[in-house]
Amino acid sequence: MVDINAFMKSLKLSWIRKVIQGQNKFTSLGRKLIDFNILCNTGSLYAISAVDMPLFFNNCLLINNKYIFWKYWYDDGIRFVKDIIKDSGQILSLQELQAKMNKPVNFLHYEGIKKVLSTYIVSVQNVKLKDYKVHSYPILSTYIKPIILNSCNKLLYNMLKENSEIPTCQTKWNEYFADDSIQWKNVHGQVFKKTNNTYIQWLQTRIIHRILGTNSLLFKMGLSDSKTCTFCKMSEESITHLFWDCNTVKILIKDISDSLKNANIQIVINSKMFLLGDTNVNDNCFILFMEVKKYIFECKRKEVIPHFQGFKASLKLSLNIYENTTNESNKGFFWIVIRLICNS
Ligand SMILES: [Zn+2]
Repeated sequence: MVDINAFMKSLKLSWIRKVIQGQNKFTSLGRKLIDFNILCNTGSLYAISAVDMPLFFNNCLLINNKYIFWKYWYDDGIRFVKDIIKDSGQILSLQELQAKMNKPVNFLHYEGIKKVLSTYIVSVQNVKLKDYKVHSYPILSTYIKPIILNSCNKLLYNMLKENSEIPTCQTKWNEYFADDSIQWKNVHGQVFKKTNNTYIQWLQTRIIHRILGTNSLLFKMGLSDSKTCTFCKMSEESITHLFWDCNTVKILIKDISDSLKNANIQIVINSKMFLLGDTNVNDNCFILFMEVKKYIFECKRKEVIPHFQGFKASLKLSLNIYENTTNESNKGFFWIVIRLICNS
């Protein structure tokens, strides 16, 4: 399962690498608009140790709750904490700083930075500045370093792989079925193994993730006046109601099951196998169930009541497409079942 937040953050970072390393028109435009020198030399959480920290745009060093940036300091190479620290670990005096910069320094700027820096150092670990290991220039930000030095793919891959959070949709389905043993890897992957039909893939993915445009969802989004079911007009139209709990749908599923029973084919249809396709028993019926769900959703969109004859017509169309596009031999269980329904 892809962690969307991590994915978005990684997309937001990778452009920096492209702009710094790239050679095309857009990257040169980017360089004109953004001063990457400042971008890469300021900010918070920039480096591991405090002496490597930038002085400017750093939320650890705020004066009156505001970020600081003094261009005349920056232009004279005073950019990091260590630029105003002596070897002995003390902060340079005003006179020493003026001598280093070879120009007068605003007394308030000097006192301000001295105060916030001292407070910060005490607040972090009570470690004296001279105890920090001083690195030599240039220093790369801990954020930007892996992006510039390595191909960032592996980094991003590991970031995504480490995500062990259980998606909300899985928790909700587990609650609905009162079952914690659902094989989610199979549930998510099944539709892509079973069919190349992109509409069916889209529909099943939306059902699993519970992000299909049912009246319940549309109502929450302010896009529908009512959250009641399009078919029965009685209950709230959630995903589970629309595809399984609604009486209209129950009748349709019973009619399908009866038509197969008449041909001596017994298929036990339960909610889990119908909604999620999580089964090995009636594995062959996955596409049939998808066709039923597709038909139900089409009826919902057109605001017509689903019924068996309508489903047969919809299935005949799909069968025609399957017969002309699938390479498999058309003699499997699935083909027998859907031909039976079409001809019943
Ligand atoms: Zn209903």
